[in-house]
Amino acid sequence: MMSAPPRLELITSGAELLNGAVLNRHAQWLGREAAGLGWELHRDTTVPDDPAALREAMFSALARVEVLVVSGGLGPTSDDVTRDVAADWAGVGVVMHEPTRAVVHAAYAARNKPLNDLVERHALVVDGAEVWPNTYGLAPGEHLTRDGRHLFLLPGPPREFQGVARDFLLPWLAARHPAGPVRRQDFSVIGWGESDLAARLNADGLAGLAVEVAYCAAPARVLVRLAERSGGGEDFDRAVALVRGALGGAVYAEADEPVEVTVVRALEARGVTLALAESCTGGLIGARLTELAGVSRVLRGGVVCYHNELKVGLLGVPEAVLAAHGAVSEPVARAMAEGARRVGGADLGLAVTGVAGPDGGTAEKPVGLVYVACADGRGTVVRELRLGGPRSLIRESAASMALDLVRRQLVGG
Ligand code: ATP
Ligand code: MG
Repeated sequence: MMSAPPRLELITSGAELLNGAVLNRHAQWLGREAAGLGWELHRDTTVPDDPAALREAMFSALARVEVLVVSGGLGPTSDDVTRDVAADWAGVGVVMHEPTRAVVHAAYAARNKPLNDLVERHALVVDGAEVWPNTYGLAPGEHLTRDGRHLFLLPGPPREFQGVARDFLLPWLAARHPAGPVRRQDFSVIGWGESDLAARLNADGLAGLAVEVAYCAAPARVLVRLAERSGGGEDFDRAVALVRGALGGAVYAEADEPVEVTVVRALEARGVTLALAESCTGGLIGARLTELAGVSRVLRGGVVCYHNELKVGLLGVPEAVLAAHGAVSEPVARAMAEGARRVGGADLGLAVTGVAGPDGGTAEKPVGLVYVACADGRGTVVRELRLGGPRSLIRESAASMALDLVRRQLVGG
């Protein structure tokens, strides 16, 4: 028997979330946490701090779902209107919550700050609400019930929102629907476009299985996320096997992680060191690797050799090879990788050379033509890539594909 997960909705409020000033982070966070508990965040609505807009959004959401979370607008200023609209929905008034008022007073006394007229308004709550203490800030969370509907008011600042949700909302959701977490499986896939990937998986039968499938695209990478539907355990197992079978070595990790994390783990496991020679990526690979703490155990360093003179002078690329084939070519990529390995005193040398655009492309060597090469002392593997998109995307993709060459060298595939 297949049953849909229970649903909740979220309303975030604040002009700053709509005018580009602040990234709305609540939906992503709550969506993940809820999914982990077997709930589905079904809709996220963002409204300005306007009572009419908030009222319309809240009332229509509460007509659709049993559980609604509203964040923000619980502070003391005139744009904080959430509790008034909630009181209206519950058909009650707003009252001072004495225990919270005491906490507000104590907080100000502790900081030696004088109270102003507005501060106490943090302690206003909807009459009859269950009040959830906020140990991360001042305005408490609130739980209101009417006609079998549950309305939760949470403070807006992300630290407070997440804190109060962790303390009260998530346990409430877990208790309300004790079905337990659903199984999930992530696949980080490299070298496939999102639509080609989805078409391939559907052709193999994924579309016919009762699983939740989501695709998130990033440069050169697609994250495929599978989640079990309740009662769909066998289909989930089939879906996992299907993705593994269809994508094989293009799956660099069965987790949500950037390729450099996988590569560094593989280098560490084998005690193998790496040196870089970057042309069109200009140090991106080195930057991404050095984001990772502890990478010095496997990364020797890198050379950014943009100009041909440096390819010759620092890496020993033969001038004759450059003259005969041009900087963006298979033999130059090969010589760069071998040079990086020798100069860096590393087990592996990795090189990238390409045309990142938007200028500099020719019919023979168009924008997006990139060579990546990996030398291991026994031989050198070179791959020709045809990457698309603007300069920034080509560079990010080239960096990822180069790193993936190292992974394939180490693990095969
Ligand atoms: P306060 O008492 O601080 O006024 P509040 O509960 O009234 O809190 P808001 O005024 O809506 O909440 O938001 C407070 C701060 O939190 C603002 O800086 C706002 O930009 C930020 N914030 C609110 N909602 C979100 C969100 N969804 N994602 C990220 N930041 C948010
Ligand atoms: Mg506010």
